[in-house]
Amino acid sequence: MEEQSERAVIRFSHCQKEIFCFCLPEQCPCCGEELRGSRLQEAPVSIPSPLTNGHKTSCCLLVTPAHDNEDRDFDGTSDLHTGISNTKGGTQGVVYNYTPGGVCRDQTRWERCISVPLVRPDMFHLLAQWDQYLDRFSDGPMWDPAWNRFDEDHHNCFSFCLGFINGVLAVEGRSPLSRDSFAHTFILPRMRKVSKYTTLHQHIQRHQYYVVDRQEDQQEETPVKPGLFQ
Ligand SMILES: [Zn+2]
Repeated sequence: MEEQSERAVIRFSHCQKEIFCFCLPEQCPCCGEELRGSRLQEAPVSIPSPLTNGHKTSCCLLVTPAHDNEDRDFDGTSDLHTGISNTKGGTQGVVYNYTPGGVCRDQTRWERCISVPLVRPDMFHLLAQWDQYLDRFSDGPMWDPAWNRFDEDHHNCFSFCLGFINGVLAVEGRSPLSRDSFAHTFILPRMRKVSKYTTLHQHIQRHQYYVVDRQEDQQEETPVKPGLFQ
């Protein structure tokens, strides 16, 4: 599914409510007042989808629903698959991911992902060698089915990604990350955003609007850590 096919969510405020919908209605769905011509307290804002097309990213960790249950999407129960994008995201990025058959270099299928940037755009020395690192790492015996068996729990797609990330951290003179700390710092906060957004989207699809009371000094949700080197 292409990201364009998903309708963008917009939010506007009226009569002390926050109203989420796909397009601005003529009347406020809460109080019935004509919206056209009347002054809204603030311009409607669009809420960007937290999902990105992994093939347009560079040097990111990507998380997507596992390929065998694509239709189930990010509903919190589906199995997830992880991979790493190369530097060619401007055109057609390749996503390296470990499967029972070895490392796949995918040019499609990662269109709806959460992405965690792994490199700052000014880390030129790292960017220059990224694709080479990725190829060399993928060709290692660790991921060769002739040498090592894929294991659902202990030697899986996430082991591949974390192994690669820790290799890069070592080159940068930094200490390795554990599976748990990486998941808790970088993946879970993004998953929560996706699941909130998905719920909102489905609600609007079903009921046209999602309405909450407007809170004056709204607590910003905890910011998601932007990336590994930020
Ligand atoms: Zn109203």
